Amino acid sequence: MSGPAQAGPQRFLIVGAGLAGSLLAILLGKQGHEVIVCERRPDPRGKGFIGGRSINLALSARGINALAAAGLAERVLEDAIPMRGRMMHSTEGRLNYQRYSSDPNDHINSVSRGGLNLTLLDAAAELPNVRLLFNRRCTELDMNAPGAVFLDDSTGESERIEADAILGADGAYSAVRLEMQKTDRFNFSQSYLEHGYKELMIPPTAAGEFAIDPNALHIWPRGGSMMIALPNRDKTFTCTLFWPYEGEHGFSAIRGEGDIKPFFEKHYPDAVPLMPTLVEDYTRNPIGSLVTVRCAPWRLDGRVAILGDAAHAIVPFYGQGMNCAFEDCVALAERIESRGADREAAFAEFEAERKPNADAIADMALDNFIEMRDKVGSRVFLVKKKFEHALHRIFPRLYTPLYNYISFTLVPYAEARARAQRQTLIVRLCLGALGLLALVILVAIARSLAS
Ligand SMILES: Cc1cc2nc3c(=O)[nH]c(=O)nc-3n(C[C@H](O)[C@H](O)[C@H](O)COP(=O)(O)OP(=O)(O)OC[C@H]3O[C@@H](n4cnc5c(N)ncnc54)[C@H](O)[C@@H]3O)c2cc1C
Repeated sequence: MSGPAQAGPQRFLIVGAGLAGSLLAILLGKQGHEVIVCERRPDPRGKGFIGGRSINLALSARGINALAAAGLAERVLEDAIPMRGRMMHSTEGRLNYQRYSSDPNDHINSVSRGGLNLTLLDAAAELPNVRLLFNRRCTELDMNAPGAVFLDDSTGESERIEADAILGADGAYSAVRLEMQKTDRFNFSQSYLEHGYKELMIPPTAAGEFAIDPNALHIWPRGGSMMIALPNRDKTFTCTLFWPYEGEHGFSAIRGEGDIKPFFEKHYPDAVPLMPTLVEDYTRNPIGSLVTVRCAPWRLDGRVAILGDAAHAIVPFYGQGMNCAFEDCVALAERIESRGADREAAFAEFEAERKPNADAIADMALDNFIEMRDKVGSRVFLVKKKFEHALHRIFPRLYTPLYNYISFTLVPYAEARARAQRQTLIVRLCLGALGLLALVILVAIARSLAS
């Protein structure tokens, strides 16, 4: 059962001040609730940097819409770099550019993860009813109270905090979820890709300019593996290798420093002259794993709920993990606002709305890895994309490519996938019918010529 019904402000304890936790704190803080956010890392404010995964991220319509709900979209977009298409780099160094959409206004945005997190934390800290506590690692959850115990790793001291509800925004390896896993009938699965990721860097040119086109997401598709690069405001690019751990194009193929440059010269020859610190970066930077997490339920009556990567970590190949986590924040805050003290109903409605969509984007993100690493370089793919763009341009109300639905609209992920599947079927039927008609006409012409 949910906690006692209360009118007015509630007390929420958010675990994790990453992207979802800090946005949720703002949205709930603006509703007038008392919000305490506990983050295991030290306070990044003042340092101007937050370490951890991927230095930059692709922000698209869903994320922008959620930031707008917090009044932050313009501030974040001021520092973003628009990416209007993909630039494919072949092994021979040939470039092939492909716009993301037939609508020239459509683009995704490269944003700094650390910068975005700082913007969100600063905005949360401005609200008098939001308290941010750092060096607080959640180690225990008391789901009955509900309350949680936090350990300060730097001092070894523990603190217990209670609230009306605990909201787990503590990422793919969530401590909150781990406690929920111990409850009866909790479903959980995690599956790792055979690929990991490693980040490298392309610095600015000697003239202080971007070394390659900054308004594109660069892809070096190499069949079972790939490298991508996204621009940063300081005119560098962050490159990410997505390689299998094992095999001839895997991380294990590089056995020592001496193997690095020859390997890149063979597979990414046009990138090597742009990467003067390649060997140091490759040697220093760790390999990160890529996991898909699915679980249910995302809530324990009205006392605990999880969101973002804690509820549904996905692989990054659609650039949607953060965008999806931000949509969660808006959905959860809206339910809390509309349901008031009936948190049980609010959390149930949140999960019912978001879970099918999180499952859909998890599947599409896995599918898109195959598209990015295997297909984007092929002629058939390029022709197919041109055809899709032409259809979208001619029949904008009737045909929207899946990529556009996901990146440039707010149509829920599951609905977007269903619509795209229906469109594909209709296009195939039309093409089949046209082919048949052409055949009938040809046969008729041949007969009339023969008679
Ligand atoms: C290589 C890579 C590239 C990506 N690119 C994109 C992209 O282009 N676009 C996109 O939309 N998404 C992208 N993503 C996905 C995106 O990073 C995540 O979906 C997003 O960070 C999820 O936000 P979150 O707040 O749920 O989790 P996180 O950002 O992981 O935040 C969780 C927070 O909780 C804290 N925490 C963890 N455990 C505890 C604990 N026990 N106690 C207290 N605090 C704790 C962590 O320190 C962290 O601050 C990418 C991911 C990867 C790995």
